[in-house]
Amino acid sequence: MKVTVFGIGYVGLVQAAVMAEVGHDVVCVDVDQTKVDNLKKGIIPIYEPGLTPLVEEHYASGRLQFTTDAKEAVAHGDVQFIAVGTPPDEDGSADLKYVLAVAETIATYMSEPKVIITKSTVPVGTADKVTAKVQQTLQSLNKSLAFDVVSNPEFLKEGAAVNDCMRPDRIVVGTFNERPVDLMRELYEPFNRNHDKMVFMDVRSAELTKYAANCMLATKISFMNEMANLAELLGADIEHVRKGIGSDPRIGYHFIYPGCGYGGSCFPKDVQALIRTSEGEQYQPKILQAVEAVNNQQKYKLPNLVKRHFGEQLAGKTFALWGLSFKPNTDDMREASSRVLIDELTAAGATIKAFDPEAMEETQRIYGVRDDLELVGTKEAALKGADALIICTEWKQFRAPDFDVIKQQLKQAVLFDGRNMFEPQRLSKKGFIYYAIGRGETV
Ligand code: NAD
Repeated sequence: MKVTVFGIGYVGLVQAAVMAEVGHDVVCVDVDQTKVDNLKKGIIPIYEPGLTPLVEEHYASGRLQFTTDAKEAVAHGDVQFIAVGTPPDEDGSADLKYVLAVAETIATYMSEPKVIITKSTVPVGTADKVTAKVQQTLQSLNKSLAFDVVSNPEFLKEGAAVNDCMRPDRIVVGTFNERPVDLMRELYEPFNRNHDKMVFMDVRSAELTKYAANCMLATKISFMNEMANLAELLGADIEHVRKGIGSDPRIGYHFIYPGCGYGGSCFPKDVQALIRTSEGEQYQPKILQAVEAVNNQQKYKLPNLVKRHFGEQLAGKTFALWGLSFKPNTDDMREASSRVLIDELTAAGATIKAFDPEAMEETQRIYGVRDDLELVGTKEAALKGADALIICTEWKQFRAPDFDVIKQQLKQAVLFDGRNMFEPQRLSKKGFIYYAIGRGETV
């Protein structure tokens, strides 16, 4: 099938690559000329495990093309994916300007019927807006062409995106009528072989499904963070509590890790957007408001612990920081807890020596060159002469460090662990002062 994908970001590029992998003929279009030029040279704009070989192979085979020429891209695809960003507006609601700009572009250049598929995460009612935009544009150009708008939200997880797209748990498709159903089945048939994963529904339900999924996941995290904070006050260990509740199959072990707050491009913005949507309906979404408030507070957990230990004024102090991306296996720094930590500690006068396996370039791009933030090439290099080690992201590379080396290199054996990676007693025996999340000893 001929497929066009608007937006070559985390979602668009991965989706396009897996579509090419199963045999579809894909053209990707973006407004970012540098991104397109780089992709043509084999420079992949994001780190995502397994993505580079797929892109290289299918760019070479010709099944995956990159362009900034929207006219050519629209002419190519029977289906037109919209996978552009939907960042938060000033009030936290999803900004649809990129989505609607693509809708207008498609309508401007289409000269035969098209199926327009919204992959971006968009508020309920967006498919109506996309439909209206396409209709208006066609009318203004005196074109009379049939088209369908389909909602097909994306559930990939950054860091496992290729696998998630190759083997999706579910493929949610919202349609206004039966017309695009067969085509959507054909498009996804290669991903739907083991059992039927396609869930067809009306458009508004599909749009809400994506927000409900992300908000449920964010709720699990904020709930566990609230329990962790309580555990500290009550002298309990949240890690015991986590295992104790996870063993109940109604609760399960997945996604109940306490930590220093969720980040990323999705949870913070999608929780906020659903709050704004609810308020637009004069409904106060009390759970979602609490989820957001708990998370905002949790991001200050590590800096507050550091200040409690070292004092409010941190001039002259240096901290080793391991982990900058919002979670492991990605270079994405959007809304990462590490950013709150860096901002808070440097504002108090500290210097940070940071290492991340993949997010160094992105950190450099965000922070530029600064005296109080040094980016170093290895996790060991970050330690030398630092007053303490702080861990923000649970990369595999940090799971079994040489604690003797850490102790030797640091001025003081103090470790702040935002992801509960180690056993407090073992660290204590090794002579560390160990601060973790919700583990009793840190009130
Ligand atoms: P991104 O910021 O990585 O990429 C968006 C791309 O769209 C950019 O390359 C930008 O240049 C391009 N773009 C903007 N306007 C354009 C236009 N008019 N024509 C062509 N290209 C244009 O975004 P992302 O993380 O891939 O997210 C895209 C959407 O998918 C968002 O709505 C997001 O909420 C949703 N989503 C993201 C994830 C995730 O993990 N990142 C998961 C599921 C859903």
